[in-house]
Amino acid sequence: MKKADFGLPFFVDICGMERTELSDLGEFGLIDRIKSKTQIYQNTTITGIGDDAAVIDSGDYYTLVSTDMLLEGVHFDLSYVPLKHLGYKAVASNVSDIAAMNGLPKQITVNIGLSNRFSLEAIDELYEGIYAACENYQVDLVGGDTSTSRSGLVLSVTAIGEVPKGLITYRKGAQPNDILCVTGDLGAAYMGLMLLEREKQEFLANQEMQPKLEGFDYVVGKQLKPEGRTDVIHELREKKIVPTSMIDISDGLASEILHLSQNSGLGFSVFMENIPIENQTLNATNDFNISPVVAVLNGGEDYELLMTFSQADFEIIKSISEISPIGFVTADKNNILVLNSGEKVPITAQGWQHLKD
Ligand code: ADP
Ligand code: MG
Repeated sequence: MKKADFGLPFFVDICGMERTELSDLGEFGLIDRIKSKTQIYQNTTITGIGDDAAVIDSGDYYTLVSTDMLLEGVHFDLSYVPLKHLGYKAVASNVSDIAAMNGLPKQITVNIGLSNRFSLEAIDELYEGIYAACENYQVDLVGGDTSTSRSGLVLSVTAIGEVPKGLITYRKGAQPNDILCVTGDLGAAYMGLMLLEREKQEFLANQEMQPKLEGFDYVVGKQLKPEGRTDVIHELREKKIVPTSMIDISDGLASEILHLSQNSGLGFSVFMENIPIENQTLNATNDFNISPVVAVLNGGEDYELLMTFSQADFEIIKSISEISPIGFVTADKNNILVLNSGEKVPITAQGWQHLKD
């Protein structure tokens, strides 16, 4: 075996080196670069970097692996996110990635980075949320790692799932004229975040204030405790239909449509009037004087599923109440949103590209 030459260590001024800014690539550009340099050594690795979960050949079925990291101050703010909800959400977001491959989760591992700022009671609360998710999704916590963090709480969950080989669904695979569908409703989690942030600012200005969130329990709940849509995966199996492509909506509808488009080499036409939006979400967009289009396209963390189906499955899709058709696939590469006014606007990348911020 050829040994890699790492050379001897020396002191480097990282900032003084010739450098390309990460912000020039963005998150997805960086992942593409890592992917392009990655060698595959095992013939059991069916799909590596680039989908919602890795796909590994386990004989009769595929094993799915997905991992996500949540950092305090980047992904969550403990002044309004209860630890129990955080634990639940960390598991649910990984379950969502397994569901996006048409799979079901089986096991999880949990890594935590902590400081002595946290008490035993606080960690118990975090794990109460993790255990509640384990029970709900029927997954087993089978390991993890515990370490010291000097920069806030770190929580990383890895989910392992399974899918029968014939049911695996990738981000690629959409065909022209396929029906584009979404589960549940969109934009709520983003508006929940806006409300929680607003209440935090009001509290900081006046500590006597208590949060005014009446009438917004659904949107706040969707932000703090989202669900991975394994219920829909079970229903698809019962009805014996398999999507032609699928992704979960973690970074906003626009970003996920562009992923499906890039992976299939096709275009998507989406009708705003068909996108399910809860009344509470609309009320919140009114309060903030922002367009529901923005909440749906660029808001994130809905953890709903975006998928395409062959026209032949249309009648069956109509019988599944949790799935709504919102558009169709086109042979060109144009991604277009048709507004309620009839105006057509291009769907562009405005999802969560934190390296560009
Ligand atoms: P998702 O939003 O579905 O979790 P991501 O955008 O985080 O997906 O990741 C897309 C793909 O890139 C996944 O296959 C993920 O495993 C992979 N990926 C992300 N970051 C890295 C990394 N630092 N090294 C290797 N693969 C990565
Ligand atoms: Mg995903």
